[in-house]
Amino acid sequence: MLQGKTALVTGSTSGIGLGIAKALAKQGANIVLNGFGDAEGPKAEIAALGVKVAYHGADMSKAAEIEAMMKFAADTFGRVDILVNNAGIQHVAKIEDFPIERWDAIIAINLSSAFHATRLALPAMKAANWGRIINVASIHGLVGSAEKSAYVAAKHGVVGLTKVTALENATTGVTCNAICPGWVLTPLVQKQVDAKAQAMGLSNEEAKKVLLQEKEPSMQFTTPEELGELAVFFCSAAGNNVRGVAWNMDGGWTAQ
Ligand code: NAD
Repeated sequence: MLQGKTALVTGSTSGIGLGIAKALAKQGANIVLNGFGDAEGPKAEIAALGVKVAYHGADMSKAAEIEAMMKFAADTFGRVDILVNNAGIQHVAKIEDFPIERWDAIIAINLSSAFHATRLALPAMKAANWGRIINVASIHGLVGSAEKSAYVAAKHGVVGLTKVTALENATTGVTCNAICPGWVLTPLVQKQVDAKAQAMGLSNEEAKKVLLQEKEPSMQFTTPEELGELAVFFCSAAGNNVRGVAWNMDGGWTAQ
């Protein structure tokens, strides 16, 4: 379905980003990976799916590095057809204790990076009259949770940016939508499980249950594979007129 297209997924060396990159690669898209840590493993996993893969290690908190990454992607594959703004970090603390440096980093990586990558991707997408911008927001783009001020503010911002991007391009073949996962058991969430286990003297399994019990009626984690299939849907012909939605996959979190 996506043969000949190129997808750039930020923060795709791990977790949800890697899951989405694999789902798009299974549909035939060439992939530009990004993120910290080991890139060789993820590159090999994508290459095994029979598509071309490249990697750029831009730090999403730096506009100049995002520009270099977008230029690298265009130079390598001609154009970015599908942009998945996924890179993100978390920090948990009350507002009055929230380190200023963590606030600035979360706003830069979780929100401003999506603005930069989007503004740089749009001209070529509009020229081709086809493009898909998928912002990985969160259920925290729709509702709040205590001790996550920067994350919730950034993710609500991403949902707003999604709507404006969709509207500005509504008469073109370029769509923009957001994905809002509930709990997904990635390294980002495992850290929160570990913190709960330590604070409450629980085992890893017990701490996971407590985390789910607080928010998710399904008592199940959403998987990167499931989120990847939602991204594939947004890229399909059936997604042509899906514009500006914030689509939750959250085990009932926001239905309550
Ligand atoms: P993760 O920690 O597994 O992956 C994050 C990715 O972002 C990694 O590849 C990491 O290297 C990369 N990254 C971090 N800082 C970066 C930077 N400055 N520059 C470039 N890359 C950077 O986390 P995840 O859970 O897969 O999170 C992916 C996205 O999904 C995030 O935006 C997160 O907010 C969102 N999300 C996660 C959950 C969840 O439950 N895990 C729920 C809702 C939303």
